[in-house]
Amino acid sequence: MTTETNTALAERIRAFCDATWDETIVPTLTDYVRIPCKSPHFDPDWEENGYMEEAVKLIADWCQKRPIEGMTMEIHRLPGRTPVILLDCPGEGDDTVLLYGHLDKQPEMSGWEEGLGPWEPVLRGERLFGRGGADDGYAAFASLTAIEALQREGVSRSRCVVLIEACEESGSFDLPHHLEALREKIGTPSLVICLDSGCGNYDQMWSTTSLRGILTGTLKVETISEGVHSGDASGIVPSSFRILRRLLDRVEDPDTGEVRIPELHCEIPAQRVEQAKAAASALGDEVYTKFPFHPGVQPMGADPAELVLNRTWRPSVSVTGARGLPSLEDAGNVLRPETSIALSIRTGPTASSSAAAIALKDALETDPPAGAKVSFEIGQCADGWNAPEVAPWLFEAANAASQMHFERDAAYMGEGGSIPFMAMLGDEFPGAQFLITGVLGPKSNAHGPNEFLDIPTGKRLTACVSHVLAEHYTR
Ligand SMILES: [Zn+2]
Repeated sequence: MTTETNTALAERIRAFCDATWDETIVPTLTDYVRIPCKSPHFDPDWEENGYMEEAVKLIADWCQKRPIEGMTMEIHRLPGRTPVILLDCPGEGDDTVLLYGHLDKQPEMSGWEEGLGPWEPVLRGERLFGRGGADDGYAAFASLTAIEALQREGVSRSRCVVLIEACEESGSFDLPHHLEALREKIGTPSLVICLDSGCGNYDQMWSTTSLRGILTGTLKVETISEGVHSGDASGIVPSSFRILRRLLDRVEDPDTGEVRIPELHCEIPAQRVEQAKAAASALGDEVYTKFPFHPGVQPMGADPAELVLNRTWRPSVSVTGARGLPSLEDAGNVLRPETSIALSIRTGPTASSSAAAIALKDALETDPPAGAKVSFEIGQCADGWNAPEVAPWLFEAANAASQMHFERDAAYMGEGGSIPFMAMLGDEFPGAQFLITGVLGPKSNAHGPNEFLDIPTGKRLTACVSHVLAEHYTR
């Protein structure tokens, strides 16, 4: 094929993707944002509440209407578990591509700007605000649109299986059960495309080279059986808050935030250090200015490359919730009986999350200060992931796709978040290639307030996926 016809083809594919986004994807995502289909960790009554089912129905109905030849759809259900949508789009040859996304959401979070809200879709310019549009509601729509675009142009591709789960934000604990039942049906993919990741900017296609693991849990410190007058008891009864502080110091250096438990760390490969330097020089101070710092507040290091490594290859600790602490208005002069916090810890991409969990529990529970009653209950526990070496065809295809639809080369960077399914797939299909990308760019704020989906990036990325699918077939 000549370059001219290639360009013309890319333009037609792009025009179809753009039109599909405008005509049906954005309106359907708008309805999807309204559904509080929170992941089971955040809505234990998800089954009775029915929001998950509403989201499944919305997405499945949309998918079923797409005129993809021979496509079959199954909503796979297991008792007591969140469902999975599986779309099988037959193709040419014996190869399989697995495209992955999820439809469960993070909880509301506070801090939404006036006029915005988690379940209130708002279109501002070319950005759709609200929970879950970018993380990761668009994935099913973008995947099928990329496939349909090729069909319209008569471009060959391999069989594509689109898998949309509903437990990702809880660590995908239901997914292995579905995979076991669906193993035969899915087959052995030679390429996995995941649309649940981030992008360093909105100017090129970003490919994720690693993900951190996640380890959550509740640390509980109790000293007395009920709250007592603080004037009476302080000085005699140790404060559960102070003990908790000491315990946290076992986990991280209170001055630097550096994690002290070796099992949470992993070795950083030399190639990833080089890529971090390259990403840092491409992004400059955007590495940290993308976060809403107050004036004068400094990032946790001066070197952007080190910050990239902190974010992607080193463990870090966040305190995400508390119990036993009254709200400020209700704070009496009481020596409280209990302080509990929720810990959310990102682990090194190749660290074993189960070994990390045991080491963490041990560090927190052993030899408690003042003999306090201390427990650490492990919640989520999922491994991170380090990409296999990129095959030359995929490297070329990603670059060409990014050039065609963003007018810039593709870029590579680790992500600080976790997609537990990638580690599962990496173990199960060691020969597969991975294209892990997404629309979660600067300020898109998945998990926080004011989450948005950058629609132009969604359109471009959809066309890029089309190109990669076509190149995968002819590789
Ligand atoms: Zn996600």
